[in-house]
Amino acid sequence: MSDKPLMCPACATHIDAPHGLAAVLVMLQRAHLKCRKCGRNSHPKDAQIMSDSYNHWFGQFRLQIEAAMGYLPHLERGPAIEVLKPRHFDDDIHHLHTFRELLRYTEEVFRPVFRDRALGYDDAELLISPLNKDGSNVAMGLSLSGHCGHNHEQDCWTLLIARYGPKGFMTYLTVGHSKHPLSEPPRSVSLEGKPIQVWSMKHHKEAVGVGSH
Ligand SMILES: [Zn+2]
Repeated sequence: MSDKPLMCPACATHIDAPHGLAAVLVMLQRAHLKCRKCGRNSHPKDAQIMSDSYNHWFGQFRLQIEAAMGYLPHLERGPAIEVLKPRHFDDDIHHLHTFRELLRYTEEVFRPVFRDRALGYDDAELLISPLNKDGSNVAMGLSLSGHCGHNHEQDCWTLLIARYGPKGFMTYLTVGHSKHPLSEPPRSVSLEGKPIQVWSMKHHKEAVGVGSH
């Protein structure tokens, strides 16, 4: 059993287990766990499987986004906003102060996608791709696009990210609803000879090819 908290199989939020080993043992044998967020009851074993699978996929995502960040330039406010090209107001732009904050935020945004992948819906997709400077192969930011795996009409999210200042990030989120989101095939680009790899959760096994060198 892993040391990660149990997770609700319905909504993928953490479930608090009763304190103390005895309480846990009793619970594991006969009780069900109630999720505080969605109210569903689940068997502890299912909550454990959900936690293991979710953390596997979130861990893969974390490795990929961490690697991709290494290629991005640190921008001042103006250029960072320029990369995100917000369609509405500055209010839609979120400022996160550290990579840890960014990870927590992206996890909240894409939680339904990780949940569906963890539940075995192979269509659940989360794509990490570079946002290039116009007309070039120079990556200025990242685009994260995701959709769930089991709806006919899917919720989909696109989160654009630019590095802001020495440690921070700026993000811009759009939420949509589409029958066929993410129809665009993944591409890869290079930055000064170093490739940025496009990562697809759906095609994780056969990582999408690296561009020119
Ligand atoms: Zn729940």
